[in-house]
Amino acid sequence: MSRIETAFVHGAVREGYADKKGAVNVPMYLSSTFHQESMDEFGEYDYARSGNPTRAALEKAIAELEGGHRGFAFATGMAAVSACFMTLSKGDHIVITEDVYGGTYRFVTKVLPRFGITHTFADFTDLDAVRAAVTSETKLLYMETPSNPTLGITDIEGIVAIAAEIGALTFLDNTFMTPIHQRPIELGVDAVIHSATKFLSGHSDIVAGLVVTKDAELSDQVYFIQNSFGSCLGVQDSYTLIQNMKTTAVRFNESARVASVLAAFLDNHPLVEKVYYPGLASHPGAHIHEKQSTSGGAVLSFTLPSYEVAKAFVEAMQIPVFAVSLGGVESILSYPAKMSHAAMEPEERLKRGITDGLLRFSVGLENEFDLIEDFTQALEKASKL
Ligand SMILES: *Cc1c(COP(=O)(O)O)cnc(C)c1O
Repeated sequence: MSRIETAFVHGAVREGYADKKGAVNVPMYLSSTFHQESMDEFGEYDYARSGNPTRAALEKAIAELEGGHRGFAFATGMAAVSACFMTLSKGDHIVITEDVYGGTYRFVTKVLPRFGITHTFADFTDLDAVRAAVTSETKLLYMETPSNPTLGITDIEGIVAIAAEIGALTFLDNTFMTPIHQRPIELGVDAVIHSATKFLSGHSDIVAGLVVTKDAELSDQVYFIQNSFGSCLGVQDSYTLIQNMKTTAVRFNESARVASVLAAFLDNHPLVEKVYYPGLASHPGAHIHEKQSTSGGAVLSFTLPSYEVAKAFVEAMQIPVFAVSLGGVESILSYPAKMSHAAMEPEERLKRGITDGLLRFSVGLENEFDLIEDFTQALEKASKL
């Protein structure tokens, strides 16, 4: 295989060449059904929910990028997450990281129990805590690393080893790292999930999800759900994602470079109480992250002294979009206590470090000096409060 940056540029397009017309962009096959040659000779595609050449090019590309057996494209990141959970059956138990993405939290706590699938939350930065949460019915260990919004780090190989002991599967949400910097399947994980809405697409344009499975058995199960449940990604969004993924590596690497500069800047600023960034040597789990990933990533969080100071800071910032989501070319500033984690009980939030002064910043592609100047003036204003 070529190096990952090359694979990002060419991976899906090579599939596009397959029709021998030589287009350098994968064609959009806007076709819900496909003509069959005869009664007993069916072609590769029959109906677009079951398979479409544009989506297939994307699915083959993400499978190659993650080094897995098969890739799947879904309508959203949550459709991808849900499809993976739907491979479980009644009576199965999940051990899941307690600082999991809010939508995943909702699916696991509100939907799966209705189908007899139970769960226990555990602190995945502590392998003993994960082991203690395992029951005789545990069929899945579910990770997200780095996690959101305090960038907690899970020891991927440690979790894979526990899963091997108990005969459970491991799934990992790799949204924050992308396969450029973290390749969980090579560490033994059974399925990797992405909200491709974030860094992979990267332009705050589409919502999309991707899954890559490690072996044929799980591939068949995820395919069965994708085709049965029908939450596959549409052709035009598949095309958009293929195009945007050609630049994911350069975008992510530049944003991550600036993120590490900003993290150091905030770490030295007197008004900032705490900085969460896995690329900082002082970050809890930094040494584990370094072992399994090649970047600190492009998202950081930090704490200001109070709600009022955080509010003054947000109102003074000029450059970023103030919104939910992350991973866009435009920097995105968000306030987890009222945005991504609003549904959580205040004491649960505090337990996870989501204080009233916590802000999350997803670094885009603006000039780093402009960003530092913007932070400087906004912190200055906030400190006068
Ligand atoms: C956004 C996100 C999701 C959900 O993806 P959607 O595309 O919004 O459905 C899942 N996991 C993580 C880590 C995310 O950031």
